[in-house]
Amino acid sequence: MFNKRIKIKDLLAQEPRGQEATVMGWVRTFRNNQFIALNDGSTNNNLQVVAGLGKFDEELLKRITTSASLRITGTVVPSLGKGQKMDLNAESIEILGDSDAEKYPLQPKKHSLEFLREIAHLRFRTNTFGAVFRIRHSLAFAIHKFFNDKGFVYMHTPIITASDAEGAGEMFRVTTLPFDRTPRNEDGNVNFKEDFFGRSTNLTVSGQLEGELGATAFGEIYTFGPTFRAENSNTARHLAEFWMIEPEMAFYDLEDNMNLAEEFIKYIIKYAIDNNKEDLEFLAQRLADEEKQLSQDKRSEMGLIEKLEFVLNNSFERLTYTEAIEILKESNHNKKKKFQYPITGWGMDLQSEHERYLVEKHFKKPVILNNYPKEIKAFYMRQNEDGKTVAAMDILAPGIGEIVGGSQREERLDKLEARMREMHIPAEELWWYLDTRRFGTVPHAGFGLGFERMVQFVTGMTNIRDVIAFPRTPKSAEF
Ligand code: ATP
Ligand code: MN
Repeated sequence: MFNKRIKIKDLLAQEPRGQEATVMGWVRTFRNNQFIALNDGSTNNNLQVVAGLGKFDEELLKRITTSASLRITGTVVPSLGKGQKMDLNAESIEILGDSDAEKYPLQPKKHSLEFLREIAHLRFRTNTFGAVFRIRHSLAFAIHKFFNDKGFVYMHTPIITASDAEGAGEMFRVTTLPFDRTPRNEDGNVNFKEDFFGRSTNLTVSGQLEGELGATAFGEIYTFGPTFRAENSNTARHLAEFWMIEPEMAFYDLEDNMNLAEEFIKYIIKYAIDNNKEDLEFLAQRLADEEKQLSQDKRSEMGLIEKLEFVLNNSFERLTYTEAIEILKESNHNKKKKFQYPITGWGMDLQSEHERYLVEKHFKKPVILNNYPKEIKAFYMRQNEDGKTVAAMDILAPGIGEIVGGSQREERLDKLEARMREMHIPAEELWWYLDTRRFGTVPHAGFGLGFERMVQFVTGMTNIRDVIAFPRTPKSAEF
């Protein structure tokens, strides 16, 4: 058997008392031809391995270069040096894979995040990305745990779909038709009858509509899968491929929906604080260092962990869209014409600058905006008595903006059909969706949380490209 190693994280948790241990990992640094800082990805803390002077061949020592992979067996003793509690005194060192120091792109020094994006295949080997991706993992696990403990059914909705949940376009087409000699109908349009599925298909932009089918059978379901949007927005919070969590619950109204979303967000943040302390502390320090270069007014008021704890300990501010517009309209910011998009009045769609003003300047905490004008929201949202608004809710987070979008769904068939007609949504294509309203319809609600935006919030990373392994953005699909 090859692998009888102990992970460095587990070894560092032990007391050094001369016990034997085998570790495997990659060299971070090699000092004085004697001290190897070894990392195996289980923690950012390296294990100090001591290659006693005269104990190993010069030929072997030469091959201990940055990122070479090693298998080392030795004894664990208290460290004589500062900065670590133990050393591994090497008895045997085996090179598993050489790494040409001249050619290795990731030299042991500080690199910019932009540069690391260009070598995304190696960036996991840095402390920053080690911390980010271990936290990403933890959050994913916490999400499944949260819903599983509540009895939600994890549902896998299709990735290839013939429907556009929002009617908003921005979809990637899926086809096996040839680019040249594309089969056409007599009217010149593409003949999708000859395509693989015999119809036009796309990558999904949301699993919600299928999720509702699950909710109206299991009661409570959630999805957690990839989502694709061909939106040409080159921002720090949009990806063309991102992961979304979409719970959908029967017998929930808008308030139940908001309560669940708030509880959910707090739960996964708490999980990270409880389970990723070291990595969070590392990222908090990183963020603080980075902000030192900013002017005082651009710096965060709270450190990363402080911010997360603040979110846990305070309830989210809930207000209606109508109240939000009033606040924005009356704000000094608006009166001094500091918004790029001035507040024109009720009915306008909120821009990210408005959302961030509410969250970062006015309330200084997460906000749940609800009951939006129906004109700026999707067809499936439940129409309120006022005839003007729908039971929608968006959660806005400091530094990120929109992190959750959700609503109570329109369960009344006649109202839903009327709204679809008004919005030119073809009812024939959604016959299966409408069937839930025909056969035992119930009040129900749900929301979508963008996973990467959540990871951004917890890790404090400012660009969404740095919280997904291999970001897909306009003009970029490397790796
Ligand atoms: P935005 O206004 O920020 O573009 P949206 O209104 O298009 O968001 P929804 O359709 O409500 O977003 O999607 C639900 C959630 O998915 C959003 O709250 C957000 O967290 C996330 N999300 C949406 N688009 C993207 C994207 N392109 N990249 C990453 N996450 C996204
Ligand atoms: Mn969008």
